[in-house]
Amino acid sequence: MYNKSMIRVGIGYDIHRLVEGRKLIIGGVLIPYSFGLEGHSDGDLLSHAIIDALCGALSFPDIGELFPDTDPAYKDARSIELLEKVALMVGEKGYEIVGIDTVIIAEAPKLSPYKEEIRKSLSQVLRIEPDRIGIKSKTNEGLGEIGEGKAISCYAVSVLRRKNG
Ligand code: MG
Repeated sequence: MYNKSMIRVGIGYDIHRLVEGRKLIIGGVLIPYSFGLEGHSDGDLLSHAIIDALCGALSFPDIGELFPDTDPAYKDARSIELLEKVALMVGEKGYEIVGIDTVIIAEAPKLSPYKEEIRKSLSQVLRIEPDRIGIKSKTNEGLGEIGEGKAISCYAVSVLRRKNG
């Protein structure tokens, strides 16, 4: 049983515009589509939301503070690699990831065919079993800008526990 004081919870959220001339990368996986996510980095909003969920759980600075979009070092950065860095920071702080859950809200493309590949990609950088990672995708029922296909948004929650406790 876990002592309550050893458990930490974090939440993350992100939204990126869909634009022409960009690759669509979600959770480190290239998804064939005619639009991609705008951003200083590769625009991988799932990796961004999970980074913030991990940072929030341990009161780390948020993604914008850790990897500023004014820093040329992060221009076109592979966000999955930034997520790996943050996962290592979690370990260095003495915590391990119990589980991650996520919701991706996209009118298109349909993401369900890519869920397993995304889960595998995340499990490699987070160094946890794929079955500890929830990936859910849904539409916005045609409502608002996400419903019109102008953007994709994402929520993530993390649960961490102190190691060796
Ligand atoms: Mg972002």
